Amino acid sequence: MDHFLYHDGTLHAEQVALSDIAAAVGTPFYCYSTATLERHFRVFDEALGELAHTICFAVKANSNVAVIATLARLGAGADIVSEGELRRALAAGVPPQKIVFSGVGKTREEMAFALTTGIGQFNVESAEELEALSCVAVETGVSAPIALRVNPDVDAKTHAKIATGKSENKFGVPMARAAETYAMAAALPGIEVVGIDVHIGSQLTELAPFEAAFNRVADLTRSLRAAGHRIERLDLGGGLGIPYTRSNDAPPLPFDYGAMIERTVGDLDAHIVIEPGRLIAGNAGVLVSSVIYHKQGEGRSFLILDAAMNDLVRPAMYDAWHDIVPVIEPEPGIETLPVDIVGPVCETGDTFAKGREMPPLRPGELVAFRSAGAYGAVMASEYNTRPLIPEVIVNGNRFEVIRARPTYAEMIGRDRIPDWLAQEPAEPQPAT
Ligand SMILES: *Cc1c(COP(=O)(O)O)cnc(C)c1O
Repeated sequence: MDHFLYHDGTLHAEQVALSDIAAAVGTPFYCYSTATLERHFRVFDEALGELAHTICFAVKANSNVAVIATLARLGAGADIVSEGELRRALAAGVPPQKIVFSGVGKTREEMAFALTTGIGQFNVESAEELEALSCVAVETGVSAPIALRVNPDVDAKTHAKIATGKSENKFGVPMARAAETYAMAAALPGIEVVGIDVHIGSQLTELAPFEAAFNRVADLTRSLRAAGHRIERLDLGGGLGIPYTRSNDAPPLPFDYGAMIERTVGDLDAHIVIEPGRLIAGNAGVLVSSVIYHKQGEGRSFLILDAAMNDLVRPAMYDAWHDIVPVIEPEPGIETLPVDIVGPVCETGDTFAKGREMPPLRPGELVAFRSAGAYGAVMASEYNTRPLIPEVIVNGNRFEVIRARPTYAEMIGRDRIPDWLAQEPAEPQPAT
């Protein structure tokens, strides 16, 4: 459920017409809905019911400080994967003890910074990282609460680029090595074992892989406790998928996911941490773009938009489907025609949809990409020297720009001409 609906023939974010935002900020832009973010957070919170739990929003899905702050107000923690994300979470007011630090390649500098801020948990992904963290903790004089990320070797049945729980993936410590790695952790100075962490992938559309992984975590919890380790927290990662189309079969509901958590690890009396990103932010955002041309090709027609793969890379990167709808509601029964929906970037990969049935759209008309709130703005680049597009958040009948579009001067002004080019005037080249 989201709050992007047609009212009086125009697509709105809550009570604000997307066309009004377009008139104010120009296209393309991202627009998020506060009510939808809040609703998704609460759905998770209720799904975990009576279990002691913390929902750590995976900041990499949408790292705008306003979005993190919206969730922090409701009690969310943060799952972060870099010092930059940690700084964003802190700037948004997330209490440090509710921050968990994930990722296979934390640097010593990042570890030291995180230790001094007092974050709640490091999700450690290797013996090598454990040793580095121990050294940094001793140097810093702050002990590091850790969970080892275990790799349960389950097939998440999702896109290969976002499956992380198979033994061939770079993530986590193999289950078979868990016992010895925990023993090593217990013996290292500056390391305090607090739990176990697992994350098997993103955009999962079935519960079974989660259930298999969590059962393995439950078994491991019992055997580690028997070996004398303090396993108080179970961090079960993120990854629950969202419906990207209105038609295809729906991914599991958070309620059923919560019941499955209760069933698999509920009797262990552990504090449950989950790290949802996409499910909270995905359907809480749209990307609004204008039609530049409707070009007739040989046997195909192309809708060329002002948004491109640099603004929303998911179709090019993951073959992802986004519903793309006109902002002005089409007349009922209007004839649609198949079009390829593309951006202006000089790559064939800059294609959002092929043969998509769309009502006729003229230059200047607006379209909205649904489900663009996660892995959208955060993955944007300035490829083709296209400025990063603005982000806007709506709350009821109000909206505010939460990241402005940079000017060309700001964008190009980051480059520097080196001294040797600045000093010597270019010599005219002799003709050959
Ligand atoms: C990406 C990621 C998440 C969030 O995944 P979603 O599919 O967005 O819920 C959570 N935890 C870790 C460790 C991640 O890498």
